[in-house]
Amino acid sequence: MCGIVGYLGSREAYPILIKGLHRLEYRGYDSAGIALINKSLELSVYKTKGKVEDLENYVSGKDVGGTIGIAHTRWATHGEPNSQNAHPHYSQSGRLALIHNGIIENYKVIKEELISKGYTFSSDTDTEVLIQLIEYMQISHNTNLFDAVQLALKNVIGAYAIAIIDKSNPNQLIAARKGSPLIIGVGDKETEFLIGSDATPIVEYTNKVIYLEEEEIAIMHRDGSITVKNLSNVEQTPIIKTLEMNLSQLEKANFPHFMLKEIFEQPEALRTSMLGRLNMESKTVRLSGIIDHRDKFLKANRIIICACGTSWHAGLIGKYIIEELTRIPVEVEYSSEFRYRNPVIKSNDIVIAISQSGETADTLAAIKLAKENGAFIYGICNVVGSSIARAADTGSYLHVGPEIGVASTKAFTAQVTTLTLIALNIAEEKKTLSKERTAELVEELQRIPEKINETLQMNTRIKLYSQIFTYAKNFIYLGRGYNYPVALEGALKLKEISYIHAEGYPAAEMKHGPIALIDEEMPVVVIAPKRGMYEKVLSNIQEVKARKGKIISIVTKGDTTVKELSDFCLEIPDTEECFVPILSVVPLQLLSYHIAIAKGRNVDQPRNLAKSVTVE
Ligand code: GLU
Repeated sequence: MCGIVGYLGSREAYPILIKGLHRLEYRGYDSAGIALINKSLELSVYKTKGKVEDLENYVSGKDVGGTIGIAHTRWATHGEPNSQNAHPHYSQSGRLALIHNGIIENYKVIKEELISKGYTFSSDTDTEVLIQLIEYMQISHNTNLFDAVQLALKNVIGAYAIAIIDKSNPNQLIAARKGSPLIIGVGDKETEFLIGSDATPIVEYTNKVIYLEEEEIAIMHRDGSITVKNLSNVEQTPIIKTLEMNLSQLEKANFPHFMLKEIFEQPEALRTSMLGRLNMESKTVRLSGIIDHRDKFLKANRIIICACGTSWHAGLIGKYIIEELTRIPVEVEYSSEFRYRNPVIKSNDIVIAISQSGETADTLAAIKLAKENGAFIYGICNVVGSSIARAADTGSYLHVGPEIGVASTKAFTAQVTTLTLIALNIAEEKKTLSKERTAELVEELQRIPEKINETLQMNTRIKLYSQIFTYAKNFIYLGRGYNYPVALEGALKLKEISYIHAEGYPAAEMKHGPIALIDEEMPVVVIAPKRGMYEKVLSNIQEVKARKGKIISIVTKGDTTVKELSDFCLEIPDTEECFVPILSVVPLQLLSYHIAIAKGRNVDQPRNLAKSVTVE
């Protein structure tokens, strides 16, 4: 959840660490801190509540010298966000400093034991317990730091990505992980190491990385050598991989926010996402994840989609399209529920796990459970080399470039597109769709990026409408069929970044309760495209109108009937019913963005949220 960055090399660590924290700030941002060891072997730790900018102000004028250091942006799980609880945390002697992403679940027991041995604590975090335990292990076993870390981690239950520095040895940096991600960058030109929760703080300096595996501990030395062992002390050979990311993808270009940039990137992002997967000569779809495991898909009794948040909404659209095109029954599960409720999983089930970051803790746990029960796992992730991508049997990357805005936009449309490709590919293998119909759908899919472009032209108009709705305390979103999940996603987007309460409903459900909420103050966003239960949605609009709700409709270009009934109307290009969500969600993304901006919200870093939820 939080951001971790570390440096060991010949350059000054501070500027590299601060820049890294800025790049990681989207992951968590209630407080931030940094620890450095200077030439005189002094360990300086600076930490403060607030954002990385606040840390920079706090540090200004202080000693930030040193060629080794670690830094952290926190997303609090244990203890309120204040400077005391911010990372790095010290050991009792003040010799060791540690940063941590994750949760030490048995911290209470360990803490009580350490207190009984005379240890004192200066924070309410689970993290401080770990660094105290490491020092205790080192002293009581009279051993080196690496072994002490190993001993301590054997006693820990929970998830962690950690980095540790020791002021008595400024030539080594130790990192370990279990459950939370951690990447090591190996210097390209210089003899240096960088570590990061993801590749964003590393990519500027090197494209050579080592993905630390579960329960591995690495010790990096100033001379450029590195040793990796697992918790059972078996030495592992670190494999150096090449990063597929470049710096320009991490910059905002000319957009004021990453979210807006990513909304506008969607046409290009989806083109890249489909690249090499649509064959325009044969008018077919080819996904290696399906072709290579054809038999699994032919035999599949059922598909279970596991995801959280926005990915879950994409999964729901996936269910509609996979069932329609392939006739395989699909269930969509919240990963957090699935993993704890003893679900029925059979060996000819296929589990599709969807996660932008590929690090969502609950989804990772869900697929582990499914795997243990013999299911075949297909991962849909954006981040290459992420934990879910590695844990899956096969899968498809989204290939949309880094998504930095906390509210997911381009990853959502790419997830829906990927699920569409999966449906088309299975349909072809299972022959549940005629060649002609497949060709029609493939041709239309190829036109979708251009149609998103057209949809984006409404940006200025949506911005204007948005000013009108800043008064609203509540919003309702309605859609049917393929657009019901879009209604859920539209409501979630608005909640996430504007903090306005919003509910998404299948339009027909409205009369079973939510209709009581409608009055002249209530904005109701209705997705009412020409294809897909148009007449039914029309009646639902009438029901809202009769109760004086304010109607904002999303309609197919040229539709005048709904337009006349609406207070505000946004037109999207016509497309196949099953592709409408990829277009209809775009005005909803823009609407939530502009309402949030009009309300003065920080859209790239909304309160209480973090980009990838690596804790359960
Ligand atoms: N559990 C730790 C804390 O609350 C780490 C949270 C994080 O991953 O940022 O301090």
